[in-house]
Amino acid sequence: MRVLIVEDEEELAETVRRAFVEDGFSVDVAPDGESGLFNAQSWNYDAIILDLMLPRLNGFEVLKKVRAKSTTPVLILTARDDLNDKLKGLNSGADDYLTKPFQLSELIARVRALVRRSAGKPSPLLKLGDVEIDTAARIIRKKTRPVELTPKEYALAEFMALHRGELVTRTMIYDHLYDEHDDTFSNVVDVYVSNLRRKLGKDFIETRRNQGYILGV
Ligand code: CA
Repeated sequence: MRVLIVEDEEELAETVRRAFVEDGFSVDVAPDGESGLFNAQSWNYDAIILDLMLPRLNGFEVLKKVRAKSTTPVLILTARDDLNDKLKGLNSGADDYLTKPFQLSELIARVRALVRRSAGKPSPLLKLGDVEIDTAARIIRKKTRPVELTPKEYALAEFMALHRGELVTRTMIYDHLYDEHDDTFSNVVDVYVSNLRRKLGKDFIETRRNQGYILGV
């Protein structure tokens, strides 16, 4: 999963970025509203964490412009415990909010919940035949036994499961598994797919020739 953090407090942005990376996310950081909007319109993020008090373009303006074109879940960070800001944010299309200071674990849990809900899968447990993905613990079990996966293999399996039944292109996978500074070649996706088939079952992900992949279990 790939998230965008729009936050001008450098130290806070870095702390949040590191926490999400450690939790298996790909993360981009934008230090002001304008670059945040640019990122949000350039990539298809799974979620956006948006500060409200931002230089160049404030969070409300960013939110309004993002919402005009996309349904990406947005969690706003409000500096003050100000009810008006929260209401204004939620009424402008934000999906959730958190007041600073906050616990990183709560922020990550909320973002994960937003991503699941926006994919129409509110439960943290995704069942796919004899494969079960526990998105809270980031563990995959096959026939109740935990399967050892690299973080990217896990991320791919989870992404496919959240888009079960949909055709997923290689570009989509690439966009959601890597951040903007990554220059990994997209053919590694094929390697991850074949690893997942080997570990989770040969029918786990189907290839649609010249189109992409589909998890139809
Ligand atoms: Ca700020």
